[in-house]
Amino acid sequence: MRLSFLKKNQKKTRIEYYQGVIDSFISGVPIGGKVGKRVYLPSTFIGGPRDMKNRYLDSMALVQEFGQPDLFVTMTCNPNWPEIKEHLKPGEEPHNRPDLLARVFKAKLTIMHDKIMSGEIFGKIASVVHVIEFQKRGLPHAHFLIILKPRFKYMTPEAYDRVVSVELPDSSEDPYFYSLVVKHMMHGPCGELNPTNVCMKDGKCKNHYPKDVTEYTTHGKGSYPIYRHKNEQRTAKVRGKILDNRWVIPYSRALLLLFNCHINIEICCDIRAVKYLYKYVHKGHDKVMFRIASDALGSKVDEISNFQNARWVSPVEAA
Ligand SMILES: [Zn+2]
Repeated sequence: MRLSFLKKNQKKTRIEYYQGVIDSFISGVPIGGKVGKRVYLPSTFIGGPRDMKNRYLDSMALVQEFGQPDLFVTMTCNPNWPEIKEHLKPGEEPHNRPDLLARVFKAKLTIMHDKIMSGEIFGKIASVVHVIEFQKRGLPHAHFLIILKPRFKYMTPEAYDRVVSVELPDSSEDPYFYSLVVKHMMHGPCGELNPTNVCMKDGKCKNHYPKDVTEYTTHGKGSYPIYRHKNEQRTAKVRGKILDNRWVIPYSRALLLLFNCHINIEICCDIRAVKYLYKYVHKGHDKVMFRIASDALGSKVDEISNFQNARWVSPVEAA
């Protein structure tokens, strides 16, 4: 409804604001005759390309002011949260209730945001940006990019170890926490154990699992540290295979205990990853579309149709 309102009321949406040659060139229309011949989707439409671009630029302004992000956190909705399960009617499965999934996930996300902002989990916060992502398959998840205040930044591998763990806990000393790590934070199995897993590409795991066993956390060559995975002979049975420490996804003990869902923590220690990360979280919706058309003068760019074509709205997103 909002899109069709915008389409029918192009004259009222103050499009003269956009009708500059510069705007046209930025959006990839190098032919002068097309300037001004456009259906506009204004930046006031939340989630549209102009809105996403504005938000991306705002985030980059935060980086300019406060420095590069220190943490990249991904939180995924857990369909087995008791808050969801207890509201299912007899015979209902969580995926039958996208309304419930959306509301509980949003509520948890608000708590997560408050916890991060309180400074109790990672230290005092300079800035947080978060984006909720809905995919065709899979559950909603949120990405957080966190910038810490200067005094709280993690400068050493020892500081990384205080925030991020990549090990299985002791199953007899800490059975509940062990069960959380096994349930939510184990990758795979992939590689030789399961060559057809989704992460496999050209015979290798895209995420480089299983990781090497290392005694100490080090800075590493890439954008993320190499975390310590001590070989303590602890194992867990995950999706039919016995896995050890090398398969654990980096997590925060405090957040895992608080939220009982998949929460991946990555420490960013290289400025080169910054632009990629912000682009990634602001990339907008998945879509695949192509068309064959002549580039003749007069073919009008219709931003609203471009936005709607091939656009998929999953039930949870709609809710
Ligand atoms: Zn893998």
